[in-house]
Amino acid sequence: MTEPISVGSLKPILNMQPGALQKPIFQVLQVRKLTSVNNGVERYRVVLSDSIHYAQSMLASQKNELVISGKLHKGAIVELTQFSVNMMKERRIIIIINLNVLEQYGTLPKIGTPTSLEAPPTNVDKEENRNLEVPSINQATFYGNKPHMPILQNQKEEINNRISSVSSATIYPIESLSPYQNRWTIKARVTSKTEIKHWHNQKGEGKLFSCVFMDESGEIRATAFNDQVDMLYDVLQEGQVYFISKCRVNIAKKQFSNVQNEYELTFERDTEVEKCPDQSTVPQAKFNFVFLKDLDNVEKDSIIDVIGILKEVHESVEITSRTTQKFVYSKRDIFIVDSSNYSVRLTLWGKHALDFNIPQETVVAFKGLKVSEFNGRSLSLLNSGMVIANPQIEEAYSLKKWYDKQGKEESFATHQSIVTAIRKEERKTIAQIKDEQLGMAEQPDYFSIKATIVFFKQENAFYPACPTAGCNKKVIEDNEGGWRCEKCDKSFPAPQYRYILTISVNDHTGQIWLSCFDDVGRLIIGKSADDIVQMREENEQAALNIFHEANCKSYVFRVRAKQDSYNGAVRVRYQVMSASFINWAHECKLLTEIINSY
Ligand SMILES: [Zn+2]
Repeated sequence: MTEPISVGSLKPILNMQPGALQKPIFQVLQVRKLTSVNNGVERYRVVLSDSIHYAQSMLASQKNELVISGKLHKGAIVELTQFSVNMMKERRIIIIINLNVLEQYGTLPKIGTPTSLEAPPTNVDKEENRNLEVPSINQATFYGNKPHMPILQNQKEEINNRISSVSSATIYPIESLSPYQNRWTIKARVTSKTEIKHWHNQKGEGKLFSCVFMDESGEIRATAFNDQVDMLYDVLQEGQVYFISKCRVNIAKKQFSNVQNEYELTFERDTEVEKCPDQSTVPQAKFNFVFLKDLDNVEKDSIIDVIGILKEVHESVEITSRTTQKFVYSKRDIFIVDSSNYSVRLTLWGKHALDFNIPQETVVAFKGLKVSEFNGRSLSLLNSGMVIANPQIEEAYSLKKWYDKQGKEESFATHQSIVTAIRKEERKTIAQIKDEQLGMAEQPDYFSIKATIVFFKQENAFYPACPTAGCNKKVIEDNEGGWRCEKCDKSFPAPQYRYILTISVNDHTGQIWLSCFDDVGRLIIGKSADDIVQMREENEQAALNIFHEANCKSYVFRVRAKQDSYNGAVRVRYQVMSASFINWAHECKLLTEIINSY
């Protein structure tokens, strides 16, 4: 079907030439609600195209129903049956009084490559236009903006040549940028900005930062190197709107970015960046939220957005390099929950980790999270990611409502327990571990078991360890009453006791000995080894009771089975990597699956 567009009819209409079409047919390029509302009446602006040019129009409010019902939309073909051309702020605009949506054409992709039609001002008396009941249009919000921007023109005297060169350029939508054209200007909001990163390698050293720009058509990432970092880092501020031109357009390296664009920008020496005097007309960040429950279905390393309630905030920790002992980065874990009744660990790094000071139970939206398989499913905020507390969006309101009403009292499932149980390592029975000779081969085997503790070895359940973070070596009491670490070459007034528990566990198929390190020991004893030592000094029986109470409890143990030579004999050692309390609901599901398979 050929589209019945009135090709080239816009220009004579806007110029009010005699003989201009009375009932032209156009394609709708965009429909948008005006932000300023007059007397409570909503107004829509519509971008019309005759396939050669496009121009803006206002829809008479009695026709709003066409937009609300979805009949009048981007891509639709319309016939204007009644319209007028009016002057507004020295520009001509079509006021649509009546129109037919030619529904038989459905939604068509953009026809042709229409360009902006800038009609020259006429001598119409401006006083007349004041009486128009149409609200003033903020032309900067139109798709494909025009060269003449009144605000900028008023200020032209005050600003330098560079600004006027930017502002007098044609504004392109971000989605139209490509390496095949180099004369463009975008008007976009910085939705995120990274820290400055330094690199050193054989070729030399340098620095860079990147930011993400957004307009109504889409997003694009831009990166600055070296001199451009000095020039632009302080100029570009998150949340502000800028005119940007003369950057290189490259194919995007998507593995480093959550931005949905085939291309990305690199700032160059003659790149022009100017803060836009009108900050209100470019949209805020867009989100593509995933429910925490659905993280299981998201591929590892995908980049997603999430909104949740902040449930737990851990201290930020400094990570130092093992070899150089030098500070490497800061890291902070937080936990968020949502109405899908899941809780997920989210890790913040660097600046995000240090600056984080949002109180618990706040609604927080995260843009640019990487999905990792660490501990089941967890999330990690990209350097270029964004954290927005209490975003003014619908999802935030309903989440807050859910949390106040019921979420506060909920217990939350985690992807951790599920993965430990079924995804990562296969669940085994103790008989299977022995039958399948797990741990007898060169490579260690990993599996999980659901078992009950039946016995603790109480002698040598812990040892005095070096209190230096990350050392954990055994310390020996020296002659002066201090405790000496050979590795750190230092003495300490007191050691830090750490568990090396040996436990006997049973399931319905047999018995096995497991070794546990300090973190697992703390979980199943419920106290630190230091606490036990102190308790034993005060009241031996109380300490014994703690072990007694910890006995006969069931856990899911994640185990590594590995060959170990001991006094010349090779045996298999079963080391507990992690233990978790049993999620009974999940266990029932597993059992149901097993039963159903018979
Ligand atoms: Zn040490």
